[in-house]
Amino acid sequence: MNIYGFTREKLEEYFLSIGEKKFKALQVFEWLYEKKNSHVDDWTNIKKEIRDKMKQDFSFERPKIIRRERDTLTRKYLFELNDHNHIEAVVMYHDYGISLCVSSQVGCNMGCAFCESGRLKKVRNLETFEMVSQILEIEEDIGDRISSVVIMGIGEPLDNYDNVLAFIRIINDAKGLALGIRHITLSTSGLVPKIYDLMKENIQINLAISLHAPNDEIRNQIMKVNQVYNISQLITSIKDYILNTRRRVTIEYVMLKGINDSETCAIELASLLHGMNIYVNLIPYNETNHINLYKSDKETISKFCATLKEKGINVTIRKEFGSKISAACGQLRSKEVEK
Ligand code: SAH
Ligand code: SF4
Repeated sequence: MNIYGFTREKLEEYFLSIGEKKFKALQVFEWLYEKKNSHVDDWTNIKKEIRDKMKQDFSFERPKIIRRERDTLTRKYLFELNDHNHIEAVVMYHDYGISLCVSSQVGCNMGCAFCESGRLKKVRNLETFEMVSQILEIEEDIGDRISSVVIMGIGEPLDNYDNVLAFIRIINDAKGLALGIRHITLSTSGLVPKIYDLMKENIQINLAISLHAPNDEIRNQIMKVNQVYNISQLITSIKDYILNTRRRVTIEYVMLKGINDSETCAIELASLLHGMNIYVNLIPYNETNHINLYKSDKETISKFCATLKEKGINVTIRKEFGSKISAACGQLRSKEVEK
């Protein structure tokens, strides 16, 4: 058991199970996340015999950074896990703070046509501690605090539901990394039943949906998941999610030249999303060597954006980050795997 995979609640259960008071969990969280000290021998407010028992019961090791790439506003990290698999995380410096994009799986099984992560099939889910460690290691490396986390790296987070939820609970815990719940964003390709599960958790995270197409014909071509949960089922689940959580949902739309970027697509998208409490984030496609898909021209993106606005849709164009350093999801890992 790795200590960084434990929510405070689970740690309380551990202490109760060894006949100790549950507030010990709070003390442990303070050491790990406030004082950032994992040397158990320093934890002198906890009795030596409990410390010794904890040293036996837990591992305190975190995956290590093995490669870094940097650009002006972006830093990209490659991690090696204990079983020698690789994952990556990307730091972005914004005017409002520093955000971190974390991975949730080794590879991804959703197989989206445009995505580098999907080219490498899922090997396994990430454990909760492997997700928490991405933040801790990187905060240490940059010597600064991460102010928001997006679960948009390698993997489909809702395909690793329990571990991802525990991760969110730990980083949101006031005695954990104390990241505001509204500073945590989960992006999904649209696993409809899991969107309903998430809705019932009653947590106020930001939900982002990778829609990327205004109709089933186009979405089927670029996202296999659409053959399981089509657009109409997905839109219904988003509407239910909004109704129940009273949260605005982000619709991600990656702009692919000649595929989903026409004027007709914009009009169709506007009518699909009409009246919903959403905002659309248009994402300039980050081209990769292995995939024959290309980014839409700047003018096409602006025009698409203008059409949506005219139709009353809230929309922004995502700033491009780190295209020089293969910052798009999965690109650095895929280079490493090829080596
Ligand atoms: N699996 C989840 C989260 C990880 S992908 C999901 O699909 O939502 C995060 C986002 O990056 C998704 O919207 C995905 O469609 C997008 N994406 C993947 N490859 C990209 C690329 N090369 N350029 C731009 N966006 C990309
Ligand atoms: Fe997986 Fe998301 Fe990439 Fe699709 S876009 S293959 S769901 S990581």
